Amino acid sequence: MVVIMQNNATKADLDAVLARVAEHNLRGSVTVGESQNIVGIIGTPITVALQESLESMSGVREVIRISRPYKLATREFHPLDTIVDVSGIKVGGGSAVVMAGPCAVESETQIMNTAIAVKKAGAHMLRGGAFKPRSSPYSFRGMGEEALKLMAKARTETGLPIVTEVMTPTDVALVAEYADLLQIGARNMQNYQLLEEVGRSQRPVLLKRGLSATFEEWMLSAEYIMNQGNHNIILCERGIRTFETATRNTLDLNAVALAKKRTHLPIIVDPSHGTGKWYLVQPLALAGLAAGADGLMIEVHPDPDKATSDGPQSLTLEHFAELMPKVNALAGILH
Ligand code: PEP
Ligand code: MN
Repeated sequence: MVVIMQNNATKADLDAVLARVAEHNLRGSVTVGESQNIVGIIGTPITVALQESLESMSGVREVIRISRPYKLATREFHPLDTIVDVSGIKVGGGSAVVMAGPCAVESETQIMNTAIAVKKAGAHMLRGGAFKPRSSPYSFRGMGEEALKLMAKARTETGLPIVTEVMTPTDVALVAEYADLLQIGARNMQNYQLLEEVGRSQRPVLLKRGLSATFEEWMLSAEYIMNQGNHNIILCERGIRTFETATRNTLDLNAVALAKKRTHLPIIVDPSHGTGKWYLVQPLALAGLAAGADGLMIEVHPDPDKATSDGPQSLTLEHFAELMPKVNALAGILH
């Protein structure tokens, strides 16, 4: 349930509403809007009696019941766009933030060269995997903490904030020491203990959609993080598994446009995993922005043929530099 206060409601009116909510052993969370404040009520049971009593209070304009099961992530609860600040880079509300870098950190030269090149081309953040979830246990699974150190060095060199995946609850503290943005990978979207652990951390979270997750399951995963007090979540559509095998995944742009309606959280698109083919990355990156995405995540590698993972979907440094002016031109038209 949300309580929409009148434009001229006083601080005393707001405090009285919060006190009434607390009397019912529920939690009230205030969103400060441009013209009025909104109180979101969380917990159970939210009774009709409480609704009626709130409706009659001074300064209250309207009380609306929230129909979605993801109470904190729904736009009904928080009508304005959430802007997530990742070490100074603002994601949401129509931004066109680009996170670029290799699937996995492989060596100092590889990550440094990539970082310098993507920064020069106009990327806003550096991505790079240290702990890699691989379908086969025999594939390269990342350099671990050494990779985190190299990422941090690349950040010092370029000023780009870094995003990297964390795979287990016990690694959250370690990865959060280095990363500006914690990535939850598709395979871990429903690892609820991991979600709660990043929910307790102070770092913003990039929540990728699960391989076969419905839109609602994805939002409920965001809810797990938010319910622990961390509301700084960026969603990432990275393609879902469908009957189609001509491409690695099917990038679900419906979900991007739908997310703008149903949630206040920012959303970015990952056309690299979404298509699995480097030559489809540019068209789907632009399509993602046109569908309303607040940014992109793009895999870039200095020598994709030699990449330890996801080479076929990685852009070369040159192809990435060709993409960026188009991203910027389109962003200029859209916003
Ligand atoms: C990645 O970003 O390299 C990755 C493993 O992505 P996903 O979890 O979407 O497969
Ligand atoms: Mn990858």
